[in-house]
Amino acid sequence: MAEDVLQLPLQFLKGVGPRKAADLKKAGLNTVEDLLFRFPRRYEDRSRLQSIISLRPGMTAAISGEVLNAGLAHTRRPGFRLFQALIQDASGQIQVVWPNQAFLKDVIHAHQRIVLFGKVEFWGSRGLQITDPEFEIIKDDPAGSRVPGDGSRQVDTLHTGRIVPVYERTGSVTPNMQRRFVWQALEQLPAEGFDPVPADLLAREQWPSRRDALWQAHFPGAGTSIDALNAFATPAQRRLIFEDFFVFQTGLALRRHENAQVRKRLVSVVDDRIRGCARAVLPFRLTAGQRDALAEIVADLQRPWPMQRLLQGDVGAGKTIVAILAAVVAMENGFQAAVMAPTEILAEQHYRTVVKILDGRPYRTALLTGRVTAATRRDLLPAIERGDVNLVVGTQALVQEHVKFKALALAVIDEQHRFGVVQRGTLAAKGLNPDVLVMTATPIPRTLALTECGDMEVSVIRGLPPGRKPVRTLVKADSRRDEVYAMIREEIARGRQVYVIYPLVEESEKIDLKAATAMAAELAEVFSDFNVALLHGRMKGDEKERVMRAFASGDLHLLVSTTVVEVGVDVANATLMVVEHAERFGLSQLHQLRGRIGRGEHASTCVLLYQAPWSDDARARLKAMADTSDGFVIAERDLQLRGPGDFFGTRQSGLPTLRAGDLVRDGDLLERAYEEARVRVDAGTLSTDLQTYVRSVWQRQFGLITVG
Ligand code: ADP
Ligand code: MG
Repeated sequence: MAEDVLQLPLQFLKGVGPRKAADLKKAGLNTVEDLLFRFPRRYEDRSRLQSIISLRPGMTAAISGEVLNAGLAHTRRPGFRLFQALIQDASGQIQVVWPNQAFLKDVIHAHQRIVLFGKVEFWGSRGLQITDPEFEIIKDDPAGSRVPGDGSRQVDTLHTGRIVPVYERTGSVTPNMQRRFVWQALEQLPAEGFDPVPADLLAREQWPSRRDALWQAHFPGAGTSIDALNAFATPAQRRLIFEDFFVFQTGLALRRHENAQVRKRLVSVVDDRIRGCARAVLPFRLTAGQRDALAEIVADLQRPWPMQRLLQGDVGAGKTIVAILAAVVAMENGFQAAVMAPTEILAEQHYRTVVKILDGRPYRTALLTGRVTAATRRDLLPAIERGDVNLVVGTQALVQEHVKFKALALAVIDEQHRFGVVQRGTLAAKGLNPDVLVMTATPIPRTLALTECGDMEVSVIRGLPPGRKPVRTLVKADSRRDEVYAMIREEIARGRQVYVIYPLVEESEKIDLKAATAMAAELAEVFSDFNVALLHGRMKGDEKERVMRAFASGDLHLLVSTTVVEVGVDVANATLMVVEHAERFGLSQLHQLRGRIGRGEHASTCVLLYQAPWSDDARARLKAMADTSDGFVIAERDLQLRGPGDFFGTRQSGLPTLRAGDLVRDGDLLERAYEEARVRVDAGTLSTDLQTYVRSVWQRQFGLITVG
C-alpha cells in the first residue's frame, strides 16, 4: 500500500542512519512522505551536456566524459590537498580540481565515465579548468530507472545531465544525499496508491496522479520549463501544493463540522425587549461594519452549537462595543459573560469602558486581575460561582485559574488570536462550551486567516468610526532629529502628549535597553521643562503600571517606551508618536504602534525616524506606512515582505508548517482548497479513506490540535 511506504520513518531508506534521521527530524522530516513533500529550493538545468571544446570561462556547464587520469596533486601550501582529474570527451580535454577532498582518490579513477556540473574558470598557466564541480560516476546499470514522462530508459544520473533538484541542506544531509534519498523513496512508490486529491478534481484540473506528480516535482522530465519549475508553477507542483492545502483545510472543515455537532448548554434567544436593552446602552450609532459583525455574532449566540468566531478589525475600529453588546444579549438571557485581555492594564481599560457603558443598567460587573486584593477575590469567586456577577473582566487567568462560573455563555478573548486555540481548548476541557469570540486588531491577511484560524468563522469590521482624523505619517532621516524635537515641543505646548518608541529586539535586548534608557535621559534633558518617563518590559509590573497610569492621566508629557505600549493602550490625548529606528520594526508592528495615536478629537502625527543605511525592505516598509493607514492593506504587504513564518513576529504562533505550499505564492490554490474542502465536508461527500488520512496527518503534523 502506498500509505505504508510513505508513512515509513526515514531510516527505512538506505543511507539514512540514526544521525541523519535525527538531522532530518529537526527539519521536520520524519516520514518518507515528509521527505517527498519537501520541495527542492530550486531547480538547475544540467540536462544540456556541453562539449568540452565549447566551454568558456565564467560558464556553469555540464559535461560528460572519461577520466583519463586522476590523483592528488602536490601543492606548496601545507595541509592543503588538491585532487585533480583530466577529463576527455569527443571534442577535447579539461582539467578538473577539487580542493581539500582527498577522499576522492578512492572514488574517482581513470577509465571511469563521469558527468560533471560546475563553474568553468580560467586558471593561469593551466588554461581552463572546472573547480569543485558536482559529479557523478556513471555505472552502466542495465536496470537504470526511468523517469515518468520521459519515456526512454536512460542512464541513471541524479546529480547531472538532467534538470536537477537542489535541496536545502539539513544538518549533515547534503543536497546531493537528499537527492539520492528522494530518488530511492520515489522508486519504492507503488503504481497505484491512495490519492488524497479527489478524482473529479484531478480530472477537472488535468493534474497528474500523486505518484507522477511526486516524480515530476523532484526529477522533472526533459523539456520541462525550468522557469515554470522555479516558479513552482508546473501542473505537478501545483497539484502537490493543492494537496498540501486541501488536506489541511479538510482537517479544519472537519473540525468545524464536528463543532457544529456539539450542543452548548446555554443558548440565547433574542426578542424585541432584548434588542431594546442593547439599544439603550449604545453611546453612539454603530458603523455598518459594527452592525454586520454584531448581527453575525448574535446569530451565533442563538445557534445550538458553540460560536467560534474571530472578530477582526483595525485598531480603533470599535470592537469593544460590539463585544459589550453581545454580552448584554447573554446577560439579558440570564447568563454570564467574561471578557479577557492579555494584560492587566488592558483588562482595567476594558473594565472602565464596560462600567461607563453599562452605567445605570442592572448588570453586576467585576474586575478580576492579579491586582485584586485577596479579600476582594474571596468575595468575588463565590459570587461568580453563584451567578451573582453577570460580567467579569479580567486577564487570561480567568480561564486558567479556578474561577467557576454558574452560567458562562460568552467568553470574549481580546487581542489574543494567537492563543485563541489554546484558550478554547482550556474552556472545553473545563466542560464549558461557551460561545467564544476572539478579537484581534492585527488584521490578518486572508490566506493566513484561512490557515491559522480556518476553523473559526470570521467577522471583519472594515473602516473606522466617523469623525476619526487620519494620522499623518512622516518618514524622516535621523539627521533631521532637530525638526522632530521642535514638533514634540510644539505638541506638548498645545497640551497634547507624545510617545517616543524605541525598538527592543530579543537578540540585542541589553544594548537596546541601554539605548532606550540613554534616549530617555537625553529627552529628559532636552525637555527638562516637561515630565518625561521611560517604560519598558523589564520593569516590574507595578512600576510599569505606575508609569502607564501617569501617562493615561496626563501627568506625563512624554513617554519613552519600548514596544510594550503596543497592544490596545488608549490615551486619546496622545497625538504625536516618534518611532526611533523605524527601519528595524516590522510593518504590522509599526501599524499597531501607530494605532496608539489618532484616537481622539485632535489631529495626530506619526514620525518614522530611520537611520541610514537602510535596506530595500526597510524602505518598502516605511513607504507602505506612509502610503496607507488601512491595516488590511498593510497586513498583505507585510506578508509579502516577510513571509508567513515571521508574520506574527514569532514562529510559535501556532501556525502549522505547510509542507509544499507557500501562502504568498500559492494564495489562489489555498482559496480553492478551502472551498473544495468545505463543500465536500458539508455535503458529506468525503471518502472514508480521505477522512482517515486527514485525521492521521493532523495528528502527526499538528500534534496537539486534534480533529474530531
Ligand atoms: P478597537 O477595535 O481597537 O478595540 P475600540 O473598541 O477601543 O477599538 O474603539 C475605539 C474608539 O472608538 C473608542 O473610543 C470607542 O468609544 C469609539 N467608537 C467605537 N465605535 C464607535 C462608533 N460607532 N461611533 C463613534 N465612536 C466609536
Ligand atoms: Mg481593543
